[in-house]
Amino acid sequence: MLGRATLDRAAHLRTEPQRLDELWAHASTRVLLLDGGRLPVTDGKTPQLVLLAPADVDGDIAQTERHLLGTNTNGGAVFLARPTLAGTSDDDRDHPRPAPLGAIWVGLREVGAHLDDHDAGIAVTAVALDSWHRSHPHCARCGQATEIASGGWVRRCPDDGSEHYPRTDPAVIMLVRDEYDRALLGHQAAWPEGWFSTLAGFVEPGETAEAAVRREVLEESGIHLGADPDDVVYLGSQPWPFPSSLMLGYHARAASHDIAVDGVEIGEARWFSREQLRDECAAGTLRVPSSISIARRLIERWYGEPLPESWSRP
Ligand SMILES: [Zn+2]
Repeated sequence: MLGRATLDRAAHLRTEPQRLDELWAHASTRVLLLDGGRLPVTDGKTPQLVLLAPADVDGDIAQTERHLLGTNTNGGAVFLARPTLAGTSDDDRDHPRPAPLGAIWVGLREVGAHLDDHDAGIAVTAVALDSWHRSHPHCARCGQATEIASGGWVRRCPDDGSEHYPRTDPAVIMLVRDEYDRALLGHQAAWPEGWFSTLAGFVEPGETAEAAVRREVLEESGIHLGADPDDVVYLGSQPWPFPSSLMLGYHARAASHDIAVDGVEIGEARWFSREQLRDECAAGTLRVPSSISIARRLIERWYGEPLPESWSRP
């Protein structure tokens, strides 16, 4: 699952330029480059991030912005290095950046589940931060091009001094259970046939996460949840940087039975017993989300044990 972070973010160092220079110069410091949001990883069954020494990056990119992802246990740090937004764009698909020696470029969705906890923590943070910088180059107040500050964790407007922080959009994701302990899973209209997952949706301004769970389940499936606070139980969260969500995971108890999907976002929803889930997955007619996702964990928690990898979507 994403978000298995083991890196010390060392947020107190972000506002100390001299300490950032010292960290950049440290022998154990390593630097991550991305290419259009893709990660440099070794090719093979157990991929690892390919990080560079700062000296290798200094020569590679004329104008580099450093983003402190965290410190290591040897006195150094891990940085994300990005071209300055005023300079070259790493979104230029006609001129992809050459991969570091021994690495291939792979998306986080494809490789996330195969990285170890340390690399997954670096990767998910870097991809989320990179995505925000790429999509927020200008001041939301006056339109002026902003500059990075605080070790890459703030963008500041040179005209009005306003500060802009990386976005994290809360979303709820929930496995709904009925009185027979069946699980409600939905099929998005845009998905290939047989793909089912837990329901999910964004928390709206002014709304509690629990209210969002109740609203999204009703909108997407027509199912009412129980009115008791214990009918919506928080289990844990996961960063989901596609592009900037934080998924808040819940189990919820239904108070009604009859499914009425919206037909737009959710094309079909069904109650699954454990036996049905097992039989249909084994037959290949049902596919569940990959082990990178919190949806998978919510389903496994209901099911009672980890699901075989062969039941995952391709
Ligand atoms: Zn401004």
